[in-house]
Amino acid sequence: MNDSAEQGAGEGTRAVRAGLPEPAKNEPTLPGPVFAAHFHLPGEVAGPYTYGRDNNPTWTLLERAIGELEAPGDDAVETLVFSSGMAAISAALFSQLRAGDVVVLPSDGYQALPLVRAQLEAYGIEVRTAPTGGDAQLEVLDGARLLWIESPSNPGLDVCDIRRLAEAAHAQGALVAVDNTLATPLGQRPLLLGADLVVASGTKQLTGHGDVLLGYVAGRDTEAMAAVRRWRKIVGAIAGPMEAWLAHRSIATLQLRVDRQCANALAVAEALRGRPEVSGLRYPGLADDPAHKTAARQMRRFGSVVSFTLPTRARAERFLEALRLVEDATSFGGVRSTAERRGRWGGDPVPEGFIRLSVGAEDPEDLVADVLRALEESGR
Ligand SMILES: *Cc1c(COP(=O)(O)O)cnc(C)c1O
Repeated sequence: MNDSAEQGAGEGTRAVRAGLPEPAKNEPTLPGPVFAAHFHLPGEVAGPYTYGRDNNPTWTLLERAIGELEAPGDDAVETLVFSSGMAAISAALFSQLRAGDVVVLPSDGYQALPLVRAQLEAYGIEVRTAPTGGDAQLEVLDGARLLWIESPSNPGLDVCDIRRLAEAAHAQGALVAVDNTLATPLGQRPLLLGADLVVASGTKQLTGHGDVLLGYVAGRDTEAMAAVRRWRKIVGAIAGPMEAWLAHRSIATLQLRVDRQCANALAVAEALRGRPEVSGLRYPGLADDPAHKTAARQMRRFGSVVSFTLPTRARAERFLEALRLVEDATSFGGVRSTAERRGRWGGDPVPEGFIRLSVGAEDPEDLVADVLRALEESGR
């Protein structure tokens, strides 16, 4: 099966085959990691592989796989992998912006964005912020060079209308980047919704086993992508071949994992709905969630994260301690469920009892029973 045969294929088929090379006799289906700091290079400097900070065949296959999922059938899309989501985010922002530019960030996005903001400002870049919900970033777009969207936002799970924001930003000449970490490319395809760049942490559900840090930037604007590539070369925030290979291997099960985890997340959210001690329940897949209408228009799956608030910090801590199938840990998107009291980090504007629950691939009835039992026990 070659690329053109896969273009019309369903996304499960695409996921299991994504990025594989043409079959070659006596070669493995997915070639193992290539550990090389440098490659044979007699004479003129030429060919794809010269030095390990610039390129690596294991990255190439992974980049193809991610590109096929983010923009199926679109050969003009280029993908670059990085050592972490933050490496990818920094590459996208710092390669596109210069002193005097204006950038619009979400005020409720990933917890490292305030640190990024301080660094951008130190370089003379004006940073404006607005919440994700209600498309509020529209109001501060005037004169911006870059609009940064995170939808659904982490950890509040608000959603904005990506197409609408991208059109408004493009009308005044701004680039649009979307952090697609929470949705994964099987949940949402920002490049098809009008974004110029899609950026994500592959540490979360894309790889899904909690054992790899990874990031990527993808886009079809050749000038913008050339700047991202140059940034990777000069900063050197490159993925290790082993991590890149593990990530590629994990993507084969992406559809299985996201389907199971999204269904489980909905089951848990439904079980939490109407519980007297639970307030502020958010899951974009719940029909009565404030984000559901917009999410349903642009997402095909609603993610594996559910957030809600318990009455007090102590109650939230007792709840986390009482859970047996859900580990108290940060991050999200893994096959094993995790949860944490987000306020313990500081930085996120959330109540003390706010819980971010990442729903794994366990049996839904076991998970729901564990969560409900822990809620009961934490109330005693
Ligand atoms: C985790 C996360 C990041 C950062 O990714 P790392 O791989 O931890 O560097 C960026 N954006 C979002 C939305 C995230 O959840």
